[in-house]
Amino acid sequence: MCRMAHFGNCDPETADQEYCIFHKPNKSEEEAREFYRKFFERFKPRIEEIEVEDESEQKKKSKEACF
Ligand SMILES: [Zn+2]
Repeated sequence: MCRMAHFGNCDPETADQEYCIFHKPNKSEEEAREFYRKFFERFKPRIEEIEVEDESEQKKKSKEACF
């Protein structure tokens, strides 16, 4: 059980560990990336729209490259 569980908002997938990924101190780079992925997945801020835009922008660019 996450030691910070009383604060709420634990990541359900990792909440059985000493710290869930949301509350883990000194995250490694990989853990930090996982944290942000889960965090944005859960709270769905505007970032997601930006990511989608970026994706279509990249598709456009790769299409242009094909021509
Ligand atoms: Zn937690």
